[in-house]
Amino acid sequence: MADGPERPFLLTVDVEPDWGVRGHQAVAETLPRLSALLRRLRMRATFFIVAEMLDACGALLERELAEHEIASHGLTHRVLTEIPPEEVARELGESRRRIEERFGRAVRGFRAPFLKTPAGWLERVSAAGYAYDSSCGAVAPSPRNARPSRWRAERHGTVVELPVTTLRCGWFPFNLTYLRLLAPAGGWLTPADGAIMFLHLHELADPALARVLRPPLRWALRRNAGEPAWRLLESALTPRAARAMTCAEYATRVTQRP
Ligand SMILES: [Zn+2]
Repeated sequence: MADGPERPFLLTVDVEPDWGVRGHQAVAETLPRLSALLRRLRMRATFFIVAEMLDACGALLERELAEHEIASHGLTHRVLTEIPPEEVARELGESRRRIEERFGRAVRGFRAPFLKTPAGWLERVSAAGYAYDSSCGAVAPSPRNARPSRWRAERHGTVVELPVTTLRCGWFPFNLTYLRLLAPAGGWLTPADGAIMFLHLHELADPALARVLRPPLRWALRRNAGEPAWRLLESALTPRAARAMTCAEYATRVTQRP
């Protein structure tokens, strides 16, 4: 194992508008229950927040995320490969500024929406003042996703990259989406040494929220969403909770490597 017995478990949650549409019902519906679950498991997580959601959900996020790391998932959740460089710089810089101002705490990490990053990405992340990035990989099955046995956090100048991990079968990202879609096999596919897991709050919400979407996306996003997703999540977290830490804590450990 690349990082020895001290392999971390980093639970990362992307806090963004519901099911790819505008709205924030899922945050209100699921965040209090998720923070209660994490408290019961005595684990802390990293929440990558879309900064424009602070207008509608800022008070709720402040209350529920007091014990967790807050990081940036951009200003508007736009695809960063589809907008001009000055807009990318604004998504990076302005989101960080707004989240820090709202929470009164430093924001050290960034995750790109849909894990899509433009050329020269880590230089841009560094220029915007971030200490780490967690955007390397793909949200769909892809050879870009690192198998747990090959996963390693690396320093690139001033920025640490924390790439996403795959399930045991490789290619498929270790996220709640694929645990839901592949259930009941998903439990077996969950990697014992997977370093990073990610999920979206709307996957835990009432699946009726997805009715606004067109098939086949509607069917894919509804499959095992809601209560089955809570069960899948708890069974993935319980055996890993003792290794849990925040992305910022692990990035600091990487920067202190000799
Ligand atoms: Zn996202």
